[in-house]
Amino acid sequence: MAARPLLNRRLEGLGTTIFAEMSALAVATGAINLGQGFPDTDGPAEVAEAAVRAIRDGRGNQYPPGPGVPELRQAVAEHQLRFHGLAYDPDTEVLVTAGATEAIAAALLAVLEPGDEVIALEPFYDSYAACIAMAGAVRVPLTLRPPAFRPDLDELRGLITPRTRLLLINTPHNPTGTVLTADELAAIAELAVEHDLLVVTDEVYEHLVFEGGHHPIAALPGMRERTVSISSAGKTFSFTGWKVGWVTAAPALVAAVRTAKQYLTYVSAGPFQYAVAEALRLPDAYFDGLRADLHRKRELLCDGLTAAGFEVFRPAGTYFITTDITPLGEKDGLAFCRTLPERCGVVAVPNVVFYDDTAAGRSLVRFTFCKRDEVLKDAAGRLQQLRG
Ligand code: PMP
Ligand code: GLN
Repeated sequence: MAARPLLNRRLEGLGTTIFAEMSALAVATGAINLGQGFPDTDGPAEVAEAAVRAIRDGRGNQYPPGPGVPELRQAVAEHQLRFHGLAYDPDTEVLVTAGATEAIAAALLAVLEPGDEVIALEPFYDSYAACIAMAGAVRVPLTLRPPAFRPDLDELRGLITPRTRLLLINTPHNPTGTVLTADELAAIAELAVEHDLLVVTDEVYEHLVFEGGHHPIAALPGMRERTVSISSAGKTFSFTGWKVGWVTAAPALVAAVRTAKQYLTYVSAGPFQYAVAEALRLPDAYFDGLRADLHRKRELLCDGLTAAGFEVFRPAGTYFITTDITPLGEKDGLAFCRTLPERCGVVAVPNVVFYDDTAAGRSLVRFTFCKRDEVLKDAAGRLQQLRG
């Protein structure tokens, strides 16, 4: 009898995440890691202190409530109102999750039936493909193409079939840095209403928009009752290891997502929830400062990559820059990233792993700029060596 593969067919080909592979390569080679998106400076000291205090005071050290501690649900609701004018009931319309990653998984596992089609912006953040696969659903890419990486809304209309259940959007978009405009979102919302589709929107970079402003699709007409909005503390407060995320949606959708979440992690880390509740209430100066800081870093790394010979697609949001390596005489981003540490001591991420249409992403490579200025300058200097 032929041995049956251990990994089930749905997960076939998903292997090790590119972030784990590239971060391990950075550790093994001592290269500067501009691959996986995590800051090399922790978030605000007072927020870290709040987590320590919660542990010492015995808040959240035992299983917190499944939907999240009331303090955090209240703070998430206040944040949605303060920044986006969206009113959510903290008791029935907010759910705390183990990072945005769990929110994405729980949302997709909750609402999809096998065979349902999910239209998602390609390149896709890697967990989207995995979660769609775990749900037995089918991903249908709407490819964002360089140099502008904008969605073609006529193409989107053409992709909708009677099997389409859900639109999975991500703005600001990882890895391209595209921030969907109010007009694009209005067009997407109209299609969702016309075809009675659900929308899951990943907005983890909501505070990292350098041009044009962030527009939540849930605020548009007809969208509140069909949209699951997802965000997380990782990017906004520079504590990616804490894994505190949240969902805001209408009660029936939150109840569905909660049903799945209960059996994924049951609850999420207690003490960190109290700390994130404090973080969400930080004054505007914190959020403005974070954005200004990363804006400056964006310029620094864009300039460095341009000087090193890359074609640079300046991102309007996120802390990632997508580049094309063709001007360096290179074609294959995956091979390029695997050898970059030994060539010049830098790690990046090949965008091709985020594509079904691998030809569309083959020569694209992503660098993160959420690192200290001296690290970005050092990396830019090292990348100059590629010019030979
Ligand atoms: N969505 C996107 C687009 C991301 O880039 C990330 C990576 N941080 C996540 C979700 C996951 O967020 P978290 O770490 O909160 O699970
Ligand atoms: N979101 C981060 C990135 O895009 C990585 C998070 C992860 O490793 N899952 O780099």
